Amino acid sequence: MLLISKKTLYRNLLGGVLSLSAVASALADPASDAVAQVAAALGGADRLEQLHNQVVSARFTGYAPLEAPTPGGTPEKIDGVNYQMTLALDGSRYRTQWQLAIDFPLQASYDFSEIINGDHGAVLGVDNLLQVPQAPMQAIRLAARKMEYLVTSPVEIVKAMLAAPATVTLHGSRETRKQNVSVLGLRKYGREILLWVDNASHLPLQATYWDANPSYGDMEITTRYADWLPADGIMQPMRIEQVNRDQLLVHIEVQTVNFNVTFIRDPFAVPAELSVPLDEKLFNIGLKYSNWFHRFLLVGIPFDLDQFAPESVFLQPVGQGVFYLRGYTHHSLIVEMADYLLLFDPVLLEERTQAVLPVIKRQWPNKKIRYVIPTHFHVDHSAGVRGYVADGASLVSTQADRKFYRDVLDARHVVYPDLLSLLDADARLLTIADGADYVFDDGQRRVRLLQIDNRHAPGLIVPYIEDEKMLFVSDLFSPGLFSAPLPPQFSFWALDLYNDLLTRGLDIRTLVGAHGGVGSYQEFLDAVRATFALAP
Ligand SMILES: [Zn+2]
Repeated sequence: MLLISKKTLYRNLLGGVLSLSAVASALADPASDAVAQVAAALGGADRLEQLHNQVVSARFTGYAPLEAPTPGGTPEKIDGVNYQMTLALDGSRYRTQWQLAIDFPLQASYDFSEIINGDHGAVLGVDNLLQVPQAPMQAIRLAARKMEYLVTSPVEIVKAMLAAPATVTLHGSRETRKQNVSVLGLRKYGREILLWVDNASHLPLQATYWDANPSYGDMEITTRYADWLPADGIMQPMRIEQVNRDQLLVHIEVQTVNFNVTFIRDPFAVPAELSVPLDEKLFNIGLKYSNWFHRFLLVGIPFDLDQFAPESVFLQPVGQGVFYLRGYTHHSLIVEMADYLLLFDPVLLEERTQAVLPVIKRQWPNKKIRYVIPTHFHVDHSAGVRGYVADGASLVSTQADRKFYRDVLDARHVVYPDLLSLLDADARLLTIADGADYVFDDGQRRVRLLQIDNRHAPGLIVPYIEDEKMLFVSDLFSPGLFSAPLPPQFSFWALDLYNDLLTRGLDIRTLVGAHGGVGSYQEFLDAVRATFALAP
């Protein structure tokens, strides 16, 4: 028997692979041929190699289907967004000047720069409600941007293929409805990005990859390229669209393109005081949900904060057996019943749920969450639900959201498995009737689920804890977040809550917000009355 150390064996194997690939490229394998054809169509491999930067200006529109008033309703549109991006075209350096004049969910204007340089990044200028003038870029955002920028630049994809042939696979040709296409795969960021190339023009038609989505499960993101025009001898798609099945997610209208621009100062230099070590865990969360984060980074809410670490979970008693489960942007409420717990708003993502559950188990070793109740289906308030269901909780839904939640519980999570998909648990969904309030009653405490007539998400649930005279309110009003006059949209949502509560005649003292904090009911009444000049 021949004795050989593992190290030597590995080196020999690697050497074999390397020399084999050298031979293969010398003989021009089919994958290299296919890449060479795309490169030629884009302007030629030599020309592509000479490119060391590109400056693109474009209009960006994002869509948020899971923020529509009803499941399947017209998606909220995030428009009024312009950007000018400088790409080094090496997959690691970008500078983007964003100009936002958004009106969802809040009317706001932001003008800021993002710099990405390898593992480092920075945000210069105020980009969200927190009003921080400059900050290191969170690893979540760094990852989400890198992934999205790559797939919106076919030149960058093809340059990556030319630079690293070993990461490229040819998946053969196939016929689609209209075209005969070749499919090339590029391995990057721990996944394979497929580039679909038209066999007639050899121009890329689209790139596809699998992203994770907490509500839809495995989500195939298709980035389509259209309206190709030459710019500095390089072909550039002037219209870029991202879709999932038939749902439009992103629309980009390119306005100007320049290559090999001379910069006096390095546009990719991250200020030393903003350089922080890369957090690998957060980077991987950003990659996994890249499209989700990319679109939500443009709504003025700091979705890239780390709300997935134990340090971001704050459990604060706000009444007898009532606990406010706070994060930075989104909060939940726990109500202790005689034998079990109620959890309102499974916020954000599976990773948030997995950070929260150990805290709950420590606090209540002998009680379990029996019911998890999203106040409404909007993704930021409901998408952590599968982790609670995997832990044994039943999901409580209104009639209107029943089908949506059934789909969430049954969604395919094979590419990115979560706990529920691994356990193959019995996922229970309970539906409350329309009309009369549903009441949890353990003989000591009554918690009523008020279905509020409102324009934000019709049927949104506001739980009323009778003995504490307390409401938990999401989105319709956020105590402490805005002072009167309340901003547009928020003001109408608050008015709807006000009018609905007027008809009920409940004794209410305290409002706890899924955003904001804890406030008195009187403050809420005063804010609405001051905004709309209503008499008490
Ligand atoms: Zn909402």
